[in-house]
Amino acid sequence: MDGGTTDTTTNPNPSNGFTTLEELPFEIRNSAIEGNGGFATKRIANGELVAEYVGERIPKEESLRRQEDGNPFIFTLDDTDDIDGDVSWNPARFINHSCNPNCEAIFDEGRILIYARRHIEPGEELTFNYGYGIEEYADFPCQCGTAECVGFMVAEDHFEIVRARREETAKVQPSTASESSETRDPIA
Ligand SMILES: [Zn+2]
Repeated sequence: MDGGTTDTTTNPNPSNGFTTLEELPFEIRNSAIEGNGGFATKRIANGELVAEYVGERIPKEESLRRQEDGNPFIFTLDDTDDIDGDVSWNPARFINHSCNPNCEAIFDEGRILIYARRHIEPGEELTFNYGYGIEEYADFPCQCGTAECVGFMVAEDHFEIVRARREETAKVQPSTASESSETRDPIA
């Protein structure tokens, strides 16, 4: 994820223990997946907390407005509110999506906590599934590069249906393409 500036020194929320880069088990640098990513700086055990996804808590209406403005850091929190993670004190915004991630985001009493879902070696890029739903995933193509990649940042629950849809599209595409080229060709 490309989160803009890597300056995490401004921290208006000192109660959060995972706010400065020194305290984090990862560092932020250029990623082969996209923009900047979070890379483990130490061994991380399966089940270990790696970050909290912090930000501004906003109602759905404001969240929708910001998403339409192109803010990709909005995280669904509950039925009424979302978290806008596009803030300098949220290094977790740099953690990229993967279809075969080594971390997972867990909702815990109004907080979004990112835990390792397996053992992680220093230098490995941290990833989690952004969990987009079936009605919105098409806007978020994935380039995680894993063998399991379904082509979109969609929740694991929807992998099967998205794979099936892509196979359908692949079958339909060639005939559609030739039809449209025929109709557009004024000489034919
Ligand atoms: Zn992928």
